[in-house]
Amino acid sequence: MTYVFEPPARPAVPVAGSDALFPVRRIFCVARNYAAHAREMGHDPEREPPFFFCKPADAVLPVAAGALGALPYPPATQNLHHEFELVVALGKGGRDLTPEQAADCVWGYACGFDMTRRDLQGRAKEKGQPWDSGKAFDFAAPISHIQHRGHAPLPTSGEIVLSVNGVERQRGDLADMIWSIPEVIAHLSTLWTLKAGDLVFTGTPEGVGPVVPGDRMEGRIAGVGAISILVS
Ligand code: MN
Repeated sequence: MTYVFEPPARPAVPVAGSDALFPVRRIFCVARNYAAHAREMGHDPEREPPFFFCKPADAVLPVAAGALGALPYPPATQNLHHEFELVVALGKGGRDLTPEQAADCVWGYACGFDMTRRDLQGRAKEKGQPWDSGKAFDFAAPISHIQHRGHAPLPTSGEIVLSVNGVERQRGDLADMIWSIPEVIAHLSTLWTLKAGDLVFTGTPEGVGPVVPGDRMEGRIAGVGAISILVS
């Protein structure tokens, strides 16, 4: 058997400090995982268990440290928002993982953007429709090169900060996550069989807001890295 056309290359993200590539299988995102952001979106963080949405694997837009990535402004929106997030890269997976097993699946980390067409997401919410048009568009997942974890423990705290055109927009601490990294992965594994190559966007701190062409986004997460993107 042969393919009817040449299959597209597998989406991948370079590994920092190496010429290796991390092949991307699926992209899972957790919503409202920082209490202050849940509140700014009009929700009560105390009462809601974690919930998830996905982006297509080929939405990744890898950006090397020190480089300026270019994010094409997507079509069909007048309100493109940044959500700056810690991304966890899985080196193995499974089903119904305990938090301890989930922690052991983490291969590395990256800085990422859960870019959101907020107007389309808002319309979908009003109508009870899926979020895909708001969240799962082309280039919706800009991401730094992946930092291999090695034998280091999982980060449980550290500043996560985003500036746009030199003005700080988002600031939080990984310690403010409602659901920890192992808890997020364990929850995910009750819904999907996780595998090597899966990326998990772990939620954004408060301060999400719009960007327009010409805006320069600079994000950094303590102990993980930094990423610079020009909206173009
Ligand atoms: Mn998000």
